[in-house]
Amino acid sequence: MQRNYKYLLLRRMLVQQVKKWVYLVLGGFWTFLFAVGLCISLFGDDPAMKDMETRIIALVMLAISALVLWRGLLAAKVVALGPKYEAIFQMDRDGFVSLQELTRQTGRAPQKVLKELNLLFDRSCFTNCSYQRLENPGVFLGDAVLEDTPAGYVTVTCTACGATNRLKAGVTGACQVCGAPVQGLRQ
Ligand SMILES: [Zn+2]
Repeated sequence: MQRNYKYLLLRRMLVQQVKKWVYLVLGGFWTFLFAVGLCISLFGDDPAMKDMETRIIALVMLAISALVLWRGLLAAKVVALGPKYEAIFQMDRDGFVSLQELTRQTGRAPQKVLKELNLLFDRSCFTNCSYQRLENPGVFLGDAVLEDTPAGYVTVTCTACGATNRLKAGVTGACQVCGAPVQGLRQ
């Protein structure tokens, strides 16, 4: 199978990569710091640390730090998942990657796949494709563009039975209805 089409926006992935490390390091450090502070205030012997004000401040800061850490974990998820989904898109034959296909390819439950797609598309990680969220969820891959190397998908009519097929540009495939060979040529 040809792998000549890019779906991942590298610029967006770079942003997520930076967010991942900044949020994980800062969030992790602050979470640790304020958790220790809260423990000292609750269980320590220093009377200056044992007032209610110190505890409230430590608790609020702990919550904010945990939120930063959580955002770092989400960015890490995006960085890890983006290339996996792109690889699945690149292997697709008909230009529509259905939820069933994604479930099979990832080995994950449909609900989990939808959650991951929501995360990736909400962060605009992809290009040359669109996400259909409601009925029959899945990802439409982009149409072929005029380039030297064929890329994307074209809609072709089978010369044997007249059925409409969608397949990768420049690739010969079999008609989904009658099995006759169809060519992915721009019409
Ligand atoms: Zn046919």
